[in-house]
Amino acid sequence: RVIRSDGETYRFYSNEMNDEAQARLALEADLRRALERRELINHYQPQYDMTGALVGMEALVRWQHPARGLISPGAFIPVAEESGLILPLGDRVLRQALADLSAWHQAGLPLVPVAVNISAAQFAQTDFAENVRSALEQHGLPPSALELELTESMLMREGEEAIRVLGQLSELGVRITIDDFGTGYSSLGYLKRFPVHTLKIDQSFVRHVHTDSNDTIIVRAIINLGHSLGMSVVAEGVETDEQFTYLRGEGADVVQGFLFSRPLPREEMECALRAAVDRPPSKGTMP
Ligand code: C2E
Ligand code: MG
Ligand code: MG
Ligand code: MG
Repeated sequence: RVIRSDGETYRFYSNEMNDEAQARLALEADLRRALERRELINHYQPQYDMTGALVGMEALVRWQHPARGLISPGAFIPVAEESGLILPLGDRVLRQALADLSAWHQAGLPLVPVAVNISAAQFAQTDFAENVRSALEQHGLPPSALELELTESMLMREGEEAIRVLGQLSELGVRITIDDFGTGYSSLGYLKRFPVHTLKIDQSFVRHVHTDSNDTIIVRAIINLGHSLGMSVVAEGVETDEQFTYLRGEGADVVQGFLFSRPLPREEMECALRAAVDRPPSKGTMP
């Protein structure tokens, strides 16, 4: 808290330092401590193909707060981004995901790729690709075990540097997914310039896909666009049978959502991996 002898300046600070700003500062300090105390943990949400096979999972960070319980990322990722804490936080999520994947694999479970959300600040680091490479190497994992989820706006904003980093990641063999596809920039030119492997349809389009004709058309267009460019298409936020049936009919490749599984703590994700081994899916059915 800045206290000035100058009366005018002090008044300025006390007016501007409103409740919201103070709460943010407190949250930032709390988050900094949480990183040190290892209170940030990864949950994993399974992803299935249309035969019901477990084909991937998304790492989703949670804050296991000693007093407030489990806090979702929407409540602290924005503050992490504004404060720069997103760099150590994002690195922690990535390395935890690779450590978990490696442990499961060593326990004899199948190597199912993990998708990790990446923030703009992480992606803008000049040594980002090298950091990813060394993290994979440290855990003895092939690059194909990792997918990075970026957003449209990140690719547009970072420009030439983004192309360079993406090139390095692609050369490495890490797959790139565009998250929340359809909610960002409408310029599609970048899709053919960048080595993108997967489009992830935003859940806002999936929600009413079988009842709102605009969403029906948008989802169909995204699936066709992705397939025309040789990409795989994932639908997120699938909650109902009706949504799933529509998406399957339109040819979506992979589904993720509460209909199949919520994001799971590490131990429960391990159970899901075991179940995938014990009960291999039969064609045309879902879990
Ligand atoms: P996202 O990457 O688009 O993740 C999907 C969000 O949808 C997750 O929310 C997930 O729990 C939720 N979800 C999954 N299935 C369903 C469903 O069927 N219905 C509904 N309504 N929601 C579903 P979550 O875990 O709260 O994460 C929110 C956002 O926070 C993520 O959106 C992502 O942008 C960000 N985030 C999460 N973990 C990380 C991280 O490690 N790093 C960064 N930079 N961002 C993260
Ligand atoms: Mg995501
Ligand atoms: Mg998403
Ligand atoms: Mg989303």
